[in-house]
Amino acid sequence: MHRFHILIAMDSHTIAQGARAVKDALVQDLTLAGLAQEVRVVETGTLGIYGKGVVMVIFPDAVYYAGVKVEDVAEIISEHIMKGRIVERLHYRDIPAQEVRVDEKTPRIGKQVRVVLKNAGSIDPESIEEYIAEDGYEALGRALTEMTPEQVMEEVKKSGLQGRGGAFFPTGVKWGFAAREKSDEKFIICNADEGEPGTFKDRLILEGDPHSIIEGMALAGYAVGAQQGYVYIRGEYRMSIQHMQMAIDQARKNGLLGKKIFGSKFNFDIEIREGAGAYICGEETALIESIEGKRGEPRNKPPFPPSVGLWGKPTIVNNVETLANIAQIILKGASWFRGLGTQNSPGTKVFTLVGNINNPGLIEVPMGITLREIVYDIGHGIPGGKGFLLAQLGGTTGGILTSEHLDLPLAVDSLRAAGAGMGSGALLVVDDRQCVVDLVQNFVEFFVHESCGLCTMCREGNGRLLELLQRLTTGKGVAGDIALMENLASTMMRGAFCGLGQAAPIPILGCLRYFRDEFIQHTQGVCRAGRCKMQASDDTAAA
Ligand code: SF4
Repeated sequence: MHRFHILIAMDSHTIAQGARAVKDALVQDLTLAGLAQEVRVVETGTLGIYGKGVVMVIFPDAVYYAGVKVEDVAEIISEHIMKGRIVERLHYRDIPAQEVRVDEKTPRIGKQVRVVLKNAGSIDPESIEEYIAEDGYEALGRALTEMTPEQVMEEVKKSGLQGRGGAFFPTGVKWGFAAREKSDEKFIICNADEGEPGTFKDRLILEGDPHSIIEGMALAGYAVGAQQGYVYIRGEYRMSIQHMQMAIDQARKNGLLGKKIFGSKFNFDIEIREGAGAYICGEETALIESIEGKRGEPRNKPPFPPSVGLWGKPTIVNNVETLANIAQIILKGASWFRGLGTQNSPGTKVFTLVGNINNPGLIEVPMGITLREIVYDIGHGIPGGKGFLLAQLGGTTGGILTSEHLDLPLAVDSLRAAGAGMGSGALLVVDDRQCVVDLVQNFVEFFVHESCGLCTMCREGNGRLLELLQRLTTGKGVAGDIALMENLASTMMRGAFCGLGQAAPIPILGCLRYFRDEFIQHTQGVCRAGRCKMQASDDTAAA
């Protein structure tokens, strides 16, 4: 029996900060001190803390340490483990509260509710035994032995789960389209091609709890009649790929993937496909093209993938976060899931909280929470006492929210009414020292780089938008540029071939709506924030 458990976050961020060396030092020093039998050091997924170096939590005290270096290890052992004294200089206090269970099924940490992230940071993601100990694969076992595929689908439909990839289409309804197709083969694809700046939630879910994705995919396969799944992961997500492959191998070895799972007639297996890092491959039909070995470009729709997908067969493409909800819904029931969030947006949403914020990280909140609660209660406000300027919700294509939206419930319907969306999962907080025009220019640079080039509206449109913005941020803009930009952005939204080009102008139009004066000032050579290097335009100079 161990007296202490030290959980050290081993995700891509913390590894880059030296987490492996810290863990090795812990193990070595504990052994030298004769404490190896009393203290267990466990690698775990993200602890939800971002940008604070190597982080760990020591149980049973539930004390978090951040910014830990190899040279701090001896002090942690001699002070905390041996004398019971907290090392204050490393103590991380911005964890809002210790985990509590408001009901038997739902862990909460402060204002956060843990459904998708219930295991992240508390189990070793490389251990199938630890996943099983947390009710892992129980939902799959129950479904295969006690439920028909129709009942599984019905439960997901009743839960009201909406796809978490950005479109928020009802997951059960989507599954129903594939289930009714007659085909000798069907496929389940997990879309893990996360690629927007500031968005890394899917990576941390895959790194921290890969078995939850396998279980969700197997349940989806059972519901729609598919026997093969693919996880399409960005090639640079090396740890996600490594953890997922390890989990697939463990599941196969334990009879949880392969033939006759749980002694049933259901066969299902999963393979990984690596993407080459093109943003467009997050679009489901471009992703399918890429798996087929073709250039990743979107297909015409309809037909939609649930009817005609991978190799022309019915295919369900679900996002990582969507799939991570499935086992919980089957295990705890649709009504439990509906008890979280709002009536029209049940459940939770995982965000990467980034930007000008004191407490950045990976958070999971119930739908309907307000922006104010996220920014000030969970994020602990804006550094340096600066003011809140705006938040961009949902990644680079996300809508713009301002201080007038701080008390708006973040749910699909209320955001739509405000002209924004939940998007993929980044929540970027911007303080009032920043320049809105410069910010938008950054977004557009991303789209220019990531446009696949198939259609003129997006390929050329983004390029022209960037030129117009560059004129504004260098003091060469003229009054007519704003109307031109608005016109072009609106035309792109209507005319671009796929969602990327259609959504690219959303932040520009949002910023023009709320910060028009700032754009006008730029045409007059003034940057409120002093970020843009204004030069006199030729016209101005001539005058
Ligand atoms: Fe490609 Fe952009 Fe056209 Fe989509 S909108 S098909 S990303 S060029």
